Amino acid sequence: MSFCQQCGTQLPEEAVCCSGCGAKTGPEDTGRSFGFGALGFFFPLIGMLLYFVWYRKRPGPAKSALIGAIIGVVIWLVLILLGTFSSSGLTTITSVSG
Ligand SMILES: [Zn+2]
Repeated sequence: MSFCQQCGTQLPEEAVCCSGCGAKTGPEDTGRSFGFGALGFFFPLIGMLLYFVWYRKRPGPAKSALIGAIIGVVIWLVLILLGTFSSSGLTTITSVSG
């Protein structure tokens, strides 16, 4: 059993929001977590998975994992596109010089 930090209403342990005032409970879980953001960034699939598993119980880390995953996917796509362009450019240069 825990209590709302805003209004003091008694809450069940699994409560995500206070039934009295609507405040979110469990401040350690609602804060953004850089670690999970980085995890989502390097492993976008895991980040998205974590989001779907956690978004009810731990919205904070879940959200950072999802944001990290989205940023990771965008950056990987840009890198892949750049790699495609630069490799085709290199092929042109080597075919011209060689
Ligand atoms: Zn409350």
